[in-house]
Amino acid sequence: MSVAGEPSFRESVDLMFNRAVALMDLGPGLEQKIRVCNSTYTVRFGVRLRGKIETFTGYRSVHSEHMEPVKGGIRYALSVNQDEVEALAALMTYKCALVETPFGGSKGGLCIDPRAWDVDELEQITRRFAYELIKRDLINPAQNVPAPDMGTGEREMAWIADQYARMNTTDINAKACVTGKPPHAGGIQGRVEATGRGVQYALRAFFRHPEDAARAGLSGDLDGKRVIVQGLGNVGYHAAKFLSEEDGAKITAIIERDGALHDEAGLDVEAVRQWIVRHGSIKGYPAASFTENGGALLEAPCDILIPAAMEGVINLSNAGRIRAPLIVEAANGPVTFGADEILRRKGCIIIPDMYANAGGVTVSYFEWVKNLSHIRFGRMQRRAEEARHLLLVNELERLSSDQGLGWTMSPGFKEQYLRGAGELELVRSGLDDTMRGAYQAMREVWHGRQDVQDLRVAAYIVSISRVAATYQSKGL
Ligand code: NAD
Repeated sequence: MSVAGEPSFRESVDLMFNRAVALMDLGPGLEQKIRVCNSTYTVRFGVRLRGKIETFTGYRSVHSEHMEPVKGGIRYALSVNQDEVEALAALMTYKCALVETPFGGSKGGLCIDPRAWDVDELEQITRRFAYELIKRDLINPAQNVPAPDMGTGEREMAWIADQYARMNTTDINAKACVTGKPPHAGGIQGRVEATGRGVQYALRAFFRHPEDAARAGLSGDLDGKRVIVQGLGNVGYHAAKFLSEEDGAKITAIIERDGALHDEAGLDVEAVRQWIVRHGSIKGYPAASFTENGGALLEAPCDILIPAAMEGVINLSNAGRIRAPLIVEAANGPVTFGADEILRRKGCIIIPDMYANAGGVTVSYFEWVKNLSHIRFGRMQRRAEEARHLLLVNELERLSSDQGLGWTMSPGFKEQYLRGAGELELVRSGLDDTMRGAYQAMREVWHGRQDVQDLRVAAYIVSISRVAATYQSKGL
């Protein structure tokens, strides 16, 4: 979605990068080396479907190999093009550096409307696309590891993993060739929800600092905050669900591709999602008002706006009318370079994409490590942890009764304390720690430097410094 007079998505990312490097002192030529996309492979392949050969166009772009493997999702959408894939690959480089996942940046895409094909056909197309990438090491556990993105999910990742295993029958690490797989096919608990969960943790990190919230004119925590979400797909659904069910936020509007639902009292996210699953659309949902012009709701008053659908939705044509004081970029690139400037001037605080949606790649990192270590997290420690806790609880109970102290533990404490952490708890803990750590890193630059006015520039400065340090230590 590009508005006349606006740079393309990739140019927009580069312009944001330039704003940050102007405040940095990188060695000559290093700035250019970090910014450019290393390579983009385009493939056109045929698949025999419905009695004829259909030709598809796909891309895999590698932005930076300062660390390998490179990492980034595969998107299925008709709008996929080289510029978009390169912009998304660049964002992956910066994102991985910001949350300290040891990867370079990559991204892939296939020009396809996934809803136009049935499951068997999608499997054939996916396997053929994967074959083309695998044979060029553009899918490989040590070199290039894709993940889900818009239009793809666990199902597609399982097909890709299986295709890789068929072509590399003796590779003991074959499962690590792709992340976002279902748990029964080598995935990890908590990956499906990870990006939305990360959005929740990002917001919690923000509201943990009253002075940061105050910069957006907000106070308190997430309880009662009015939130508008665009896109109720993987990322938007999980973010909206967790924020409303666990933090007390009110989802006052949900904007989808065919319109928007609105209810100032707060929408039931799970009910809306189930409606979409059953009817393929939000239209007809009985418990809220519906408008065809979904885009208009981006401009409605709220406390937090979460664009979680696609890039370029907040642009020169509507930025001036956006009323949210806080925008969380759950999607990649939802705010264009020009819109970013308008919003900053209005005092709107933007939690940038490379941080806000980094939960996905963080948990993908955990999944990749799990696949390489061939063991589920917590399997060795869980019962040992429980046994040690039990020892302590038993001793306290013995002391209490021997000494006649009459101590009683509060209800639920014993059960909670005794339970050792399983994979899901460990994944959530690792994700929370990552999101808090990355927020602190951004925040130190945001508050610590007079010349840094916003979180996006702060995020770029943190990640570019880290990428630069890696290049320098390689002797580049
Ligand atoms: P998805 O395909 O699961 O969901 C996208 C949703 O947005 C769908 O419900 C779709 O109907 C809706 N949508 C599409 N166009 C729209 C429009 N013009 N207006 C309103 N709604 C629209 O995709 P996703 O995986 O949730 O990804 C969404 C965004 O998050 C993308 O920018 C993606 O790059 C980014 N992201 C995803 C992940 C991940 O783990 N899936 C990780 C990081 C970033």
